[in-house]
Amino acid sequence: MIEAVMPTYARAEVAFETGEGAYLTATDGRRFLDFGAGIAVTALGHCHPHLVAALRDQAGKLWHCSNLYRVPGQEKLAERMVDATFADTVFFTNSGAEAMECGLKIIRRHFDQAGEPERYRVICCANAFHGRTLATIAAGGQSHLLDGFDPVVDGFDHVAFGNLNEMRAAITPATGAILVEPIQGEGGIFPATMEYLKGLREIADEFGLILFFDEVQSGMGRSGKLFVYEWAGIEPDVMAVAKGLGGGFPVGACLVREKFASLVPGTHGTTFGGNPLAMAAANAVFDVVLTEGFLAGVEAVATRFRASLEALVADHPGVLSEVRGFGLMQAVKCVGENKALVSKLFDRGLLAIPAGDNVVRFVPPLIIEDRHVDEAMTILDASCRELGEGSA
Ligand SMILES: *Cc1c(COP(=O)(O)O)cnc(C)c1O
Repeated sequence: MIEAVMPTYARAEVAFETGEGAYLTATDGRRFLDFGAGIAVTALGHCHPHLVAALRDQAGKLWHCSNLYRVPGQEKLAERMVDATFADTVFFTNSGAEAMECGLKIIRRHFDQAGEPERYRVICCANAFHGRTLATIAAGGQSHLLDGFDPVVDGFDHVAFGNLNEMRAAITPATGAILVEPIQGEGGIFPATMEYLKGLREIADEFGLILFFDEVQSGMGRSGKLFVYEWAGIEPDVMAVAKGLGGGFPVGACLVREKFASLVPGTHGTTFGGNPLAMAAANAVFDVVLTEGFLAGVEAVATRFRASLEALVADHPGVLSEVRGFGLMQAVKCVGENKALVSKLFDRGLLAIPAGDNVVRFVPPLIIEDRHVDEAMTILDASCRELGEGSA
């Protein structure tokens, strides 16, 4: 008989009861150092006092009222996002996929309004991940996401990630936009080079294309800057954000330049998106991430983590073949099955997440300190040693 919870996940045998900072405690008392952060979501760790206070306060006032009315929390957060980014205007959603859908609809409607409705196609990258809706699996283009869900939503072409020549060659009169994750996440933690991101901006300008960045996973401070595009010294035209934005409360956002803000009343909407509870959570996350020195702290701890991972790979050549990543979005590539390492780490109390290309991904909360890195490295070293002995 099928489980009452639809079995779309192969879940680990554990249920968590409480969380505090970088740690989770399970119902059976086991304690875990959380370097998965609920898939890069709990950016401030679990139960950050400022988030808890903000959400408690809002919960006693107003949860939801719909977008038929003004929502002061949206106005506040949107202004902060506009001030902190390239964007002129922001649409709030409940998830990353919805933020992506909003961006994709913006592209189609922009060209429709410009009298060029034939320019509906978006060039995406192989190995991408943009969500699980019909349009975002088509944008991702990976067969394991698309299998069984034909017909594929039309309008997406794919080229190799990191290759500007292929990108240029794929442009046709039907192309309207380029969509890229500046750091591919689910695909296996592949950071773009800054030259690539700059080159995409040049190509988009040359051909009059909309440059759409998916920073759902890489954004909100994980790279050591608020968004990865800042490292490249360029700006996209449209950007999807989610995961870390609400620190664990479901909220996403689509950020847009005024020039491409093609959605007007009646063309797009959401019942839940941007409700007062979500905005209280996201504004509280912003309070902390924008605090003087916070992002510099992320960069410093990320540098230590990266150096430690490099040493780990050098120490265990039979188990690990590579480290790659950017900021607090790092991964090690396994020689054996990545799930075997994830399971060893789990047994020793460290949570990490498998991703594509046989990597184990680390996307810890941004509030981790050197001691958390050192604790994780002790567990990683012991687990790699054990795996190495097993294979020897
Ligand atoms: C997680 C993710 C999404 C989808 O977000 P959901 O909230 O799961 O819909 C989209 N793009 C990227 C890069 C992601 O990592």
